Amino acid sequence: MPLTGPAVTDFASLELIEPIKRALIEEGYENPTPIQAAAIPPLLDGRDVLGCAQTGTGKTAAFLLPTLNKLALTAPSGKPVVRALVLTPTRELAAQIGDSFQAYSRHLKLRHRVIFGGVNQRPQVADLRRGVDVLVATPGRLLDLHEQGHIRFNSIEFFVLDEADRMLDMGFIHDIRRILKLLPGNRQNLLFSATMPASIVKLANGFLKDPIKVEA
Ligand code: AMP
Repeated sequence: MPLTGPAVTDFASLELIEPIKRALIEEGYENPTPIQAAAIPPLLDGRDVLGCAQTGTGKTAAFLLPTLNKLALTAPSGKPVVRALVLTPTRELAAQIGDSFQAYSRHLKLRHRVIFGGVNQRPQVADLRRGVDVLVATPGRLLDLHEQGHIRFNSIEFFVLDEADRMLDMGFIHDIRRILKLLPGNRQNLLFSATMPASIVKLANGFLKDPIKVEA
């Protein structure tokens, strides 16, 4: 697996657009964390990334910032579609990723939606009908809404599998495999996991294309 080049040490030298850099300054972020410094440049270059990082390392920004950057630079299709899918195991994590999206995208015109089970699906469906740039979802509700015809995956350009080891521990492997089969082939993929047991490496090898490996 290829190794990353020398890590950057400040946000100024990352090729992020000005509205994102401004949001980071407003968030009080001074420098990228090691996982951000290692993951953001290859992701901006369009590479797939396999990241070994725990919560607290700044991994959310490591995958959200380049995704937002790329979505902001390309014109939306004008159709009610999903352009990036972030799959995460729990509603708490999904909500946290949604909060991070809001903070980092505050100067961008991008829409997002967080969906998880155990709550009324109607507001989720209403937002999906309008189209969202970034959909943050737990696997069960995502598949439910897909089966009911409320989500189409054919415009997804970015796929993020967050906390992959926890996903497997929670028994989501079959759901993940079903979702992977529904995604279009031509997309950028990221997998983040706190640990890298053989089951994660096998899963990663199944859908990451020539990934850059980064570690916190
Ligand atoms: P995460 O590992 O993504 O859950 O992030 C952990 C915490 O670190 C969150 O509260 C982030 O807001 C914060 N954070 C992420 N990146 C940075 C950064 N470059 N500088 C300061 N704080 C950060």
